[in-house]
Amino acid sequence: MVDHADKAQDLIQSTLTKAIAANKAALAQGITRHEECFDCGDPISVARQKAIPGTTLCAYCKEAQEREYG
Ligand SMILES: [Zn+2]
Repeated sequence: MVDHADKAQDLIQSTLTKAIAANKAALAQGITRHEECFDCGDPISVARQKAIPGTTLCAYCKEAQEREYG
């Protein structure tokens, strides 16, 4: 017996797993989708991107954001 809800969940899970694996592989090669700060456009260092995978802000803007929003 096939449960359609389970099947959809499986599909979502496998898609997510693939996306995460692709992101990790890209990071391992020093390639990421967020090479520039979303806020000011300055380049985000590879070290920072490795420390915080998927970050969209440079250290300066992230600090400013944390100060502003706590
Ligand atoms: Zn910035």
